[in-house]
Amino acid sequence: MNDAVPLSSPRKPDLILLPELGTARPLVDAFRRRITYLRLSVTDRCDLRCSYCMPERMTFLPKKDVLSLEELYELATGFIARGVTKIRITGGEPLVRRDIVDLFTALGRRLGHDLEELTLTTNGTQLAAHAEALAKAGVRRVNVSLDTLDRAKFAELTRRDSLPQVLEGIAAAKAAGLKVKLNAVALKGVNEDELPDLIAWGHGQGHDVTLIEVMPLGDVEEERLDQYLPLDAVRESLARRWTLTESAHRTGGPSRYVDIAETGGRLGFITPHTGNFCEGCNRLRVTATGQLYPCLGGGERVDLRAALRSDAPEANLSAALDEALRIKPEKHHFRMDQRGAAPALARHMSMTGG
Ligand code: SAM
Ligand code: SF4
Repeated sequence: MNDAVPLSSPRKPDLILLPELGTARPLVDAFRRRITYLRLSVTDRCDLRCSYCMPERMTFLPKKDVLSLEELYELATGFIARGVTKIRITGGEPLVRRDIVDLFTALGRRLGHDLEELTLTTNGTQLAAHAEALAKAGVRRVNVSLDTLDRAKFAELTRRDSLPQVLEGIAAAKAAGLKVKLNAVALKGVNEDELPDLIAWGHGQGHDVTLIEVMPLGDVEEERLDQYLPLDAVRESLARRWTLTESAHRTGGPSRYVDIAETGGRLGFITPHTGNFCEGCNRLRVTATGQLYPCLGGGERVDLRAALRSDAPEANLSAALDEALRIKPEKHHFRMDQRGAAPALARHMSMTGG
């Protein structure tokens, strides 16, 4: 695996070595949850500095430790061989990684064979430049993070004045035929009052919208408790304004949806604190340096890079996945009730992605 063919080489089609379907052991954890979904971070770097995600002066992972695109592809192949059918590319900001479209193109060739879905989560700043190439690679859905439509508030929240580029990126994705879902972290006193307008705007554009509760991951200079807005209260408030009906819609993630009669759109809630987020967890997360975190809210870790760079990469990768299944905890232990508490985990969300 170490001498994998570069993704940009003319021999690229050789990379599509489809594993024998049905022969591999599926990934099932100790709580009988079947893992079919990989969230693969391709960089922890980002062109924004969302105040709930990272500090302005963020320390990034050393570049020398980051997996090459070829290694990321081989890693994904190891997961697919064990029954993963859905891959979400994330970060940091995945679209700031040079030549990242090559990885989408290579993985996209497996769609319809042993991969059912290839998606990404992006902040949208570079989406206008990449939307068509992503669609061509086989991406059908993108999650775009958008916490506010107010330019000044966006600049304050992300510490960068990039709202126009993000809106342009969302429009380009739609024009390229990608189904867009907007993700907004609900933040007390920041976008709290604007949420109904944000939802109505998203639905008006034909996009689903999902609200997320903030999680205590990494040191971010601000008091977490001041940021935290419980979504059960938001939902009650929205239900006084609109007619919400439970929806059976699922996207493979932790979001639970309602349909809103008045906007004609769908609204998701990701509720690590006020809802049951862990019960149906079907995911594993890998950082750009090949560290597998079986739980977003836990410190458990398995080093896949060592397996990948060993003498017997396939066998060692598969054994490492078995170890991840063994240690995947039943649920996270985040708490959002202690002022001044240290982060639940030192790791920032930008390492594992969302
Ligand atoms: N940069 C891309 C983006 O922002 O969409 C992908 C990576 S980002 C870490 C993935 C998602 O995590 C985003 O929707 C972001 O809003 C969310 N996020 C970041 N830090 C978070 C935190 N501490 N709690 C909850 N969500 C967070
Ligand atoms: Fe960057 Fe996404 Fe984190 Fe914002 S949430 S700083 S866009 S990685």
